[in-house]
Amino acid sequence: MRSRFAPSPTGEAHPGTLLAALLVWLDARKAGGAALLRLEDLDTTRVKAAWSEQMLDALAWLGLDWDETIVQSGRKAAHEAALDQLAAAGRLYPCTCSRADRAGGRRAPDGGWAYENTCRDKPLPAGGWRAVDDNLRAHLDDSRVELVDDGGLDVSQTPAHDMGDPILRRRDGVIAYQLAVVVDDAAAGITHVVRGRDIAPSTATQVMLQRLLGVPTPHYRHHFLLLEHSKGEKLAKLHGSIPFGELRARHAGDELCGLLAHAADLVDEARPCTPRELVATFDWARVRNDDLVATFDRERGLVVQRQS
Ligand code: GLU
Ligand code: ZN
Repeated sequence: MRSRFAPSPTGEAHPGTLLAALLVWLDARKAGGAALLRLEDLDTTRVKAAWSEQMLDALAWLGLDWDETIVQSGRKAAHEAALDQLAAAGRLYPCTCSRADRAGGRRAPDGGWAYENTCRDKPLPAGGWRAVDDNLRAHLDDSRVELVDDGGLDVSQTPAHDMGDPILRRRDGVIAYQLAVVVDDAAAGITHVVRGRDIAPSTATQVMLQRLLGVPTPHYRHHFLLLEHSKGEKLAKLHGSIPFGELRARHAGDELCGLLAHAADLVDEARPCTPRELVATFDWARVRNDDLVATFDRERGLVVQRQS
């Protein structure tokens, strides 16, 4: 059993990140498997080295250790080899559509706009995919993916229709998440992918890419999220609103571990504990299903509550 935690260092480490990391780590340790850390730092327009360093600090502070650390920006050759393979199979095409072209069309399961595969018949130029300065998309099979994850969440889709063919390389040259995640999970021999439910709409697309690349499909599990009240009272996935520096100033690592374990329903009381102490009794059957709302202030510290 090999699992991974794959955060994007695009902002402050926050309680939602730490909860996700804890769940991945406990699942792997309980199974006697390997727990890998992969920093998904490909989007040069959004990542910062300081946030990668903070992520490493924050995970260690919480008491998590990793069998391997992979930095995704170092995996360029493998990502390019996958594009070569897909191009050779006739599966890559340049997409000249803009974001505005898609807006107002059909909603995709992730809340964005579906892509109507408008450019599918456009050939690659003589210079191949490297000569393309538009988005590159993969022509997926039009078939349906039937998949219920290990937690019972049905993530079945017809990705080519529901989402549309995915972008694999952006016009600015950045390798897209959907390709990198599939290539890197396969290369690391990942057997179990545990991640937040916000990513569940992408799973079927990733399965289709695995089939095109001829790599195995791992087990999947999508867990509950920590939410926050964003502007206008709407609940959204927790982001950078609880800076890690403040969290660390207010809580000890084992105190936060206890708070997160309690929030997840893994323990009856929010008593300080180390991740190691949670391994023996860890069980997905205990982990809650419903999302929670997190707030923070210096007086009360981190408070995690049911949605009212
Ligand atoms: N890097 C992605 C994120 O932080 C998660 C990737 C994954 O777990 O598949 O949202
Ligand atoms: Zn297009």
